[in-house]
Amino acid sequence: MKILKFGGTSVGTPERMKDVAKLISDGSRKIVVLSAMSGTTNSLVEIADYMRKRNVESAGAMIGHLRSRYKKHIPNLYDTDEGKQKCEDFFKEEFITLQRLASQDFSETTEKAILAQGEILSTHMLTFYLQEQGIRVRLISALDYMRIDADAEPMMMPIYDYWSKLLAEDTETEVFLTQGFICRNAQGEIDNLQRGGSDYTASLIGAALHLEEIQIWTDIDGMHNNDPRFVEGTRPVRQLHFEEAAELAYFGAKILHPTCIQPARYAGVPVRLLNTMQPDAPGTLINNVMQPGVIKAIAAKDNITAIKVVSSRMLLATGFLRRIFEIFERYKTSIDMVATSEVGVSLSIDNDSRLTPIVEELKKVGTVEVDQDMCIICVVGDLVRENKGFLGHITSAFSDVAIRMVSYGGSNHNVSFLVRKEDKQKTLQALSDTLFTD
Ligand code: ASP
Ligand code: MG
Repeated sequence: MKILKFGGTSVGTPERMKDVAKLISDGSRKIVVLSAMSGTTNSLVEIADYMRKRNVESAGAMIGHLRSRYKKHIPNLYDTDEGKQKCEDFFKEEFITLQRLASQDFSETTEKAILAQGEILSTHMLTFYLQEQGIRVRLISALDYMRIDADAEPMMMPIYDYWSKLLAEDTETEVFLTQGFICRNAQGEIDNLQRGGSDYTASLIGAALHLEEIQIWTDIDGMHNNDPRFVEGTRPVRQLHFEEAAELAYFGAKILHPTCIQPARYAGVPVRLLNTMQPDAPGTLINNVMQPGVIKAIAAKDNITAIKVVSSRMLLATGFLRRIFEIFERYKTSIDMVATSEVGVSLSIDNDSRLTPIVEELKKVGTVEVDQDMCIICVVGDLVRENKGFLGHITSAFSDVAIRMVSYGGSNHNVSFLVRKEDKQKTLQALSDTLFTD
């Protein structure tokens, strides 16, 4: 059995929902995870934001807009009066719930209950449509099995217990439809797996049940070998190792949420990225296979700050790096890249919200230099040290670019370069020309 996840644009209009319905009603039994229709979660965030600001009127107005936007979908999605009526009744109830939540005092709990409505809406709409089409569908509430613990970590056992019982008891249903993103927390309240978390839902279920494949359906044809927004002639990558995909997802490839890789990887369940607009295209397969000596892709991460700390006291001293890393830990700021020399260390961070106190503390340790507006360029593939000569090949693309830092050897799958933001596009293009033109 497979699990298929469809993102916000794939269910963004009634027409797209019908395309999804076609894709999932091929007769095989499957679990389907949906995001909210595109734009909905952002609208819900805005509604909650008005509540936080005690602007009840604007929150109410936004709910009104959302409701009329949704009502317009009814005649376009359903053919029968029964289908239309079912959806209308559901919307009525649903928007009363939303108004009720919005009239309460603001709290994070209420905010999360509001954010959850997007996925509740999309899954009900598709369920009613599939029912109208005569497909054996069953809507399963994610709030019944998706849990996070007190550290906000998802729990695998409840997923396994709930679904294995369900699948054993119900042998009739073809499509088990469920919400991505939403869950309950340790207090039993409605919570979520963070923005973009629907991929994570699919991966967690696929891993907990050891399914055959986790399919992530979006509107691009897989993960590309470079960023198509900046580079011409990029191509989808046919296959990636889990580690390669994790690096790419973290370093910029927007197609897959970075957290989504881990559960699938631990369970050894392959992940396939597919395109709803081109359902027959092969997409990208992510599994445990490493293709020897192949460089797969390039990704870039913006808004990076580089910090250099130089001190003659570092020479032959022990504990110098610990003192530096402790400062970042204290300010809960994670470090992406590190490069050291005998007298100093350079590191990069992507969250600079605590930069001022961090720099203040670092000044007690050494001379500090900060460069903002930097960009990490990350080359991903089989980069084990036995592959002689490839580093020279990669760096030949940088002949015209000033490199601020290099990080190689941290994993077998990645070499990263820190460059100025202005140099990003030309570096990405030069790397594509060097590495991917035959
Ligand atoms: N609807 C949620 C969001 O927009 C979750 C998702 O789409 O993955 O973040
Ligand atoms: Mg997404």
